[in-house]
Amino acid sequence: MPLLKDGRIVEDPWVDVPPGEAVPADQPAIVDLEAWQAQRAQLVGRNQAIGLRLAPGDSPDEIAEDLDRFSLITLSFPAFTDGRSYSLARQLREKHRYRGELRAVGNVLRDQFAFLYRCGFDALDVADTVTPKHWRTSISEMGLAYQTATKDGARNVFQLRQRKRDAETKATLLASQYGKHSSADIVQRTITDEFAGRIAVVSSFGAEAAVLLSLVANVDRNTPVIFLETGKHFPETLAYRDQLVTHLGLTDVRSVSPDPGHLSDEDPDDALWRKNPDRCCHIRKVLPLERALDGFDAWLTGRKQYQGGERSDLPIFEAADGRVKINPLAVWSQSAVERWIAAHDLPKHPLAEIGYLSIGCAPCTEQTTATGDVRNGRWAGTEKTECGIHKAKWAH
Ligand code: SF4
Repeated sequence: MPLLKDGRIVEDPWVDVPPGEAVPADQPAIVDLEAWQAQRAQLVGRNQAIGLRLAPGDSPDEIAEDLDRFSLITLSFPAFTDGRSYSLARQLREKHRYRGELRAVGNVLRDQFAFLYRCGFDALDVADTVTPKHWRTSISEMGLAYQTATKDGARNVFQLRQRKRDAETKATLLASQYGKHSSADIVQRTITDEFAGRIAVVSSFGAEAAVLLSLVANVDRNTPVIFLETGKHFPETLAYRDQLVTHLGLTDVRSVSPDPGHLSDEDPDDALWRKNPDRCCHIRKVLPLERALDGFDAWLTGRKQYQGGERSDLPIFEAADGRVKINPLAVWSQSAVERWIAAHDLPKHPLAEIGYLSIGCAPCTEQTTATGDVRNGRWAGTEKTECGIHKAKWAH
């Protein structure tokens, strides 16, 4: 069945598994609440994404702790007069802060589309009997101001969306104001003026981390620094973190760990990185970072364009889920990084000295040649190039 999503009609890659039927191992699959509760142990260990189908009478409270596990939740509308799934959507978005995809399935009228959106839905299963043209017309006809009476009830969803728009506007404004300024100036302006008390640095304490951290320390050593302690780092990285913190006098380094429940449920044998690295990064990096950034309006990263791949056209200022993300080193060259480290006599990561040009978790990092892509040694031999913290749904 086609889907109405992001203003377009798209094909649905998910398999909707009927009650009592086997869940396919090789495709993203949607199961009902009963199947999830009965087969939870097997389903959390699978290599494919899992979605949940909730009926109007189901309560998400029963599985509140598990909601993060679902990339998608579908809510059904058995009749167009039955609005219980609107309430369910709001509960998921506002009470449980569910950030995955929310999809409406069933009897929804064209003029309910704006209300769906306001309640936090991302997509709608379009009945086969309805032509895409019909729905395209709906999208163009319906502005969000159409149903003003819904505003109060959907306040949190609105706030989130408004915040997202505000961040986009702010990122654009900062780019025009400071886009040509030096990295040191950008770091100073964002920490002391633009986001005073509302900005954090996210650092891997990897091969080149010393550059951004030294710029930050020059401005304010008390700036919060978030380090994702995945439990999989090289011992050298942890030692280097401590060395650099002391050297630069950083006072607020927050080592953020994964949820122990996620680890025991999904990675009991400590091998998820091999079986499903995306999921491993999700529970060890993406979710902990989302929690750690709560309360901040902006974050600084040390990413650079020369690192290649998706970073090739990295802007200095960008918006990320209601926050501004600042990449002050985006246009630096590799030799500029090396010169900065040497000129400021900064400690070097011990592994960087022996051919690790980009350093992440130990199982997923190899030595690389100096002539290749600096991130070649990350998830070598796989298609994966990023851990996901910059691609997570909440980060856009
Ligand atoms: S980099 Fe590897 S070990 Fe680290 S969180 Fe990702 S998959 Fe897991």
